[in-house]
Amino acid sequence: MNELKKYPTDAEARKMIVEIGRRMYMKNFVAANDGNISCKVDDDTIMTTPTGVSKGFMSEDEMVKMRLDGTVISQGDRGPSSEAKMHLRIYNESKDAMAVCHAHPPISTSFAIAGMSLDRAIYPEALVNLGTVPCVHYEAPGSQGIPDSIAPYVRDYNALLLANHGAVAWGPSLMEAWYRLEALEHYAMVIMYTGNIIGKANVLSCDQVGELLRIRERMGITTGGIPACAARPSNTVDVVAGHSPVGEKPDGLKTYGLKTYGQKEPESPCGCAAGSDSLSEAELKQITQAVIARLSGKK
Ligand SMILES: [Zn+2]
Repeated sequence: MNELKKYPTDAEARKMIVEIGRRMYMKNFVAANDGNISCKVDDDTIMTTPTGVSKGFMSEDEMVKMRLDGTVISQGDRGPSSEAKMHLRIYNESKDAMAVCHAHPPISTSFAIAGMSLDRAIYPEALVNLGTVPCVHYEAPGSQGIPDSIAPYVRDYNALLLANHGAVAWGPSLMEAWYRLEALEHYAMVIMYTGNIIGKANVLSCDQVGELLRIRERMGITTGGIPACAARPSNTVDVVAGHSPVGEKPDGLKTYGLKTYGQKEPESPCGCAAGSDSLSEAELKQITQAVIARLSGKK
């Protein structure tokens, strides 16, 4: 045994794999019998998950013990997953890899399907503990193509996206490999939200907000604050597949801050904080007067 490395005992490895499988399942990283987990238990031996079982409901005696050359030493009712080849290749490529977690987390798998790597410097945790995550080309699950496709990257990265398949992460311990897989999915989620999901909001106009305030008033509700509104309505066009309206370019997007419930009312006469950056003074005045007229006319 390598004195520089502390390997878990077989019993510890079995227990940790069951626990990480449970977390993987609870976090919706896998469906049905997807995913696989492994860790080294000495220089030439790993403990890994069996084929054909849900990762959320495994037992310790189901684990497969095998050598890095693929020879099975012991197993429960089932042999190793066909994707164990990928794990073995990671251990053979990098002596620092002590554990590997593979799953199909929905957001990172979506990036893998889109053929997009995760490579934006957007927050420290992802950058420090995970780093960038390349997306390697497609190979059929369980084929020898997958280990070959990841091999060039194992020494330089901590995780990879597998095109049209899923994600894999490795690390110096089972828990750290799992944390990297978790961090990878979180990173993918943040990239999706910030850059790929919406990127635009049609904020209600001051007229529309005024109308809602009057309804609320009639219902006797006096709490709830007043949200900021948009000077002009931006939701008046039907959006029909194949007939998209002329869209705003990203650099033409406007954002309006939302007021939190209970905040002091803003100073504008309509009770809103209209963005006036693209309006002339005359336009703003006209809108304000219209809102005041509508509000006062109903009182
Ligand atoms: Zn897979």
